[in-house]
Amino acid sequence: MNEVISIYEKTEGLLRGHFLLSSGLHSDTYLQSEKVMMYPETSAKVIAPLVGKLAEIEFDTVVSPAIGGIRFGYELARQLNKRTIFTERVDNNMTLRRGFELAKGEMVIIAEDVVTTGKSTRECMAAVEACGAIVVAVVSIIDRSGGEAGFTVPFIPLAAVDVKTWSVDECPMCKAGGVAVKPGSRK
Ligand SMILES: [Zn+2]
Repeated sequence: MNEVISIYEKTEGLLRGHFLLSSGLHSDTYLQSEKVMMYPETSAKVIAPLVGKLAEIEFDTVVSPAIGGIRFGYELARQLNKRTIFTERVDNNMTLRRGFELAKGEMVIIAEDVVTTGKSTRECMAAVEACGAIVVAVVSIIDRSGGEAGFTVPFIPLAAVDVKTWSVDECPMCKAGGVAVKPGSRK
């Protein structure tokens, strides 16, 4: 099995079951990278294979969409000895704040822990490009888009996870008499 997946399972960053997501959908899988990132040594180990994967790509800065990408981007930049900053939502617009700046022509890698639809990643890319910087690749720990993320630059995930979601009416686990739980509410 992929080592990333086994670490996510061990730290409960990946749970299998019957979950009620904040979107209202039911799912058979729940992903929470922050459960892995709680352990700096473990997150360093998870991210380490990206160092080799990025060896051929020239870039200056790692940019992450807040909040999920921040600790991932920080550890990746630490291992690659690069600068790292993050974008965050202000009035729903992905923005660079806190004095973070990008120079025209600066080469950027976008780091997002889990890519689902790729929406926040694309918004982060747009904020970077608005500064005149150049996005050269998107990296993620987990791709759960089923290959549907469709970025205009190379996409480098460490692992893929198949996540199924249903509306309440269509959920097969509900039909079988099960009750969905909110992730993290088991204890
Ligand atoms: Zn259900």
